[in-house]
Amino acid sequence: MTTIDKLIENTIRADVRDIASYFVPDASGYIKLDAMENPYQLPEELRAELGQRLADAALNRYPVASYATLKGKICAGLGVPQGYDVLLGNGSDELISIMATAVARQDKRAVILAPTPAFVMFSRSAQFAGADFVGVPVKADFSLDLPAMLAAIERYQPALVFLAYPNNPTGNLFDADDMAAIIRALGDTGIAVVDEAYQPFAKKSFMGRLPEFPNLVVMRTLSKLGLAGIRLGYLSGDAKLLEQFEKVRPPYNVNVLTQLAAEFALDHLDVLDRQAELLNAERSRLAAELAVLPGVEVFPSAANFISMRVPDAEKVCSELRAGKVLIKNLGKMDKMLTNCIRVTVSTPEENTAFLNALKASL
Ligand SMILES: *Cc1c(COP(=O)(O)O)cnc(C)c1O
Repeated sequence: MTTIDKLIENTIRADVRDIASYFVPDASGYIKLDAMENPYQLPEELRAELGQRLADAALNRYPVASYATLKGKICAGLGVPQGYDVLLGNGSDELISIMATAVARQDKRAVILAPTPAFVMFSRSAQFAGADFVGVPVKADFSLDLPAMLAAIERYQPALVFLAYPNNPTGNLFDADDMAAIIRALGDTGIAVVDEAYQPFAKKSFMGRLPEFPNLVVMRTLSKLGLAGIRLGYLSGDAKLLEQFEKVRPPYNVNVLTQLAAEFALDHLDVLDRQAELLNAERSRLAAELAVLPGVEVFPSAANFISMRVPDAEKVCSELRAGKVLIKNLGKMDKMLTNCIRVTVSTPEENTAFLNALKASL
């Protein structure tokens, strides 16, 4: 063993040494339909104006610690209830990790629970924070198994329950009454986090219901709306709860360029909303065209992606890759997703390219 290998064994946690890095394939030259990005950029004249604002940014200064302007625009423009504030993250990935860290107590292992299949960062963040992750399988139609969720809550007393609304990677919206029953069952023993990463496409939200549930946190991101590159997530909930998470948040976690770009985008939310409308219309078209393909089972989606079962996901993905179309094979994620693939809804041209490549591979 070399010195560096010994050093790693002596210092790095075994569970970290044992896992693979979060895999992001090189996408240059590909039609990129694997990461739920909005294919549209801001219009040219807005980009020029944004460029000017960023050029004037005081890059020599730390961000203004309160982020008051940006928070004000989020609260005013994105339906945060009166009297509620937001916590900002370097993407909602960071917010997930902040919450996991905040609940991972030292005296006994904390449990973080989510219906599975789920967004990978829920279990990863639990692991890194030193908490146990419990996944409760959804039903065959991807709806919540409410009795199983309630039994698991009773048994494991989770400190944190993540409910992605709509869910990734399945795309469906869970039943709102089932979710409310889970939030109520957690009561004063667990925090329910409704992850609304796809809210711009789903239009449904628990944000307005924050006053109903003191243990509810609603988390969102600007990523899927069209600003994945700036990395900005936000969450809202009871002020006293936010105050605790705030202590774990690294100071200045949102940089000056992100702050300015987000403020600018929020002043032009109508542009992004129109892009989301276009993508929703394409989602309907794509779903309808997929539904008639023999051997393809399309799952209902309220997000900017569509998941489906195909006869041979490995073959479809590798043939699409050869044709320079990048999608996600969900097969290895969960046994419920054997032979399932996920495609991001994109421009009409890119969607058609995907459809043609898929047809050729079937
Ligand atoms: C994409 C996604 C996120 C991560 O968003 P970022 O803000 O880009 O970190 C969070 N939750 C779900 C369910 C997602 O699909």
